Amino acid sequence: MLLKSLWKMLLRVGSRVVIEGVREGIGDHGEMVVVVLVRLRKRRSRRGFCGRCGRLSPGQDAGAGRRRWRSLDQATTLTYIEADAPRVNCKVHGPTVAEVPWARHDVGFTRDFEDQVAWLAVHSSKKAITELMRIAWRTVGAIVERISDDARARRDPLEGLRRIGIDEISYRKGHRYLTVVVDHDTGRLVWAAPGRNKATVKKFFNQLGRSRTLKIRLVSADAASWIGDVVRSRALNAKLTMDAFHVVGWATDALDVVRRQVWNDARRAGQTAVARELKGARYALWRNPEDLTARQAAKLADIARTNGPLYRAYLLKEQLRRVFALRGQAGIELLDRWLAWAQRSRIEAFVKLGRSIRRHRTAIDQKLITGTGNALVESTII
Ligand SMILES: [Zn+2]
Repeated sequence: MLLKSLWKMLLRVGSRVVIEGVREGIGDHGEMVVVVLVRLRKRRSRRGFCGRCGRLSPGQDAGAGRRRWRSLDQATTLTYIEADAPRVNCKVHGPTVAEVPWARHDVGFTRDFEDQVAWLAVHSSKKAITELMRIAWRTVGAIVERISDDARARRDPLEGLRRIGIDEISYRKGHRYLTVVVDHDTGRLVWAAPGRNKATVKKFFNQLGRSRTLKIRLVSADAASWIGDVVRSRALNAKLTMDAFHVVGWATDALDVVRRQVWNDARRAGQTAVARELKGARYALWRNPEDLTARQAAKLADIARTNGPLYRAYLLKEQLRRVFALRGQAGIELLDRWLAWAQRSRIEAFVKLGRSIRRHRTAIDQKLITGTGNALVESTII
C-alpha cells in the first residue's frame, strides 16, 4: 500500500489514478526497466473525457488495448506507465482515445518527461540532453514544438516572470530554428517561436508588454548579439547573464581546434603513430577528468609527456570549467588569472577565446555572482 502511494507521488499521476502494480525487467540494451501499471478510477458509466477537447463523452470501445508512456527515469531505471487506452465517442471528434491525466493526447511520453526535455533543450547541449534523457534529437524537436503550442493554449504563461532564459535551438538537422524562453523559477518553457533573429526576440517582448518586461530581473542567454541587444534595449531592469555551458562549450571547441592542428602537423611530418594516438585521444580530452576511464587517463598522461601545447590547451579548458564550479568572487578571480594565462599561452585558439570572453565579461561575471541554473544539469555539462 505504502509502495503504491509512493509510486503515485513519484509519477505525479493525479488523484483519479489507481496504481495496480509494478513490473520490473531488463530492456533491449540490458538496462533496468520498471513498468507501473495504472488505471483511471472507474466512473459509474463508461464515460470519459475526449483526449482532444476534454469534453465529457460516452464510452465507445477498448480502442487499441493497453498503452505505455515513457515517464521520467527513477534514478537510472527506465520508467513506463502502462494503462488501458479506451475510446470515447466525442460529439465533435467522434471516436477518440480518452484523456489521461499524465500525458498529452496521442503522445508516448508523460507531461513531466516532456517538460523536462523542453527545459533541458534551452539549458544544455544536444549531446547532454539526448544522452541524459535517452531519446533521439528529432524527438526533442517534436516535444518542444508540442509544448510551445500547449503553452500558448494555456492562459497567459507570461504572467509573473522574473528570471528567464532565452536561447535558440535548432532541429531537423539544423534546418529549423526556434527561439525559446524558459522561466528559471518554475523550470517551464513559456514561449517559443520559429526563427532566430532580433525580430523574434522583439516579438516575445511585445507580447510580454512594457510593464511586465520591466519587472524582469534577470535574463540568461548565450553570446548571440541578436538576443543580447534586444534584451538590453527592452528589459531595462534586468541583468544579462550567460549560461556557463555556452562558455565551457567554446573552450571545448578551441581545444578541438588545437587537437586537429597538432594531428595535421604530425601527419604531414610522417609521424603516423603519433597521429593515430592523437586521433584516439579526442574523448579523453573532452571528458571531465573525474569521468575518465583508466585507459583515457593513461592516454592523457601520454599527451602530457609528449605534446606540450595540446596538454596546455587541455589544462586551459579544465581551468575554465573550474571557474564556473567555483563561482562567486573566487570564480571571478580565477577567471582573471585564466585570461592572463590564455593570453600568454601563444595557443591561437585560446588567445581568441580569451578575447571573446573579455567581450562578454559583464554577462559572465553576472553569471558567476547570481549562479542561476540547475545543479543537476550543470554538473552534467560543466
Ligand atoms: Zn472532442
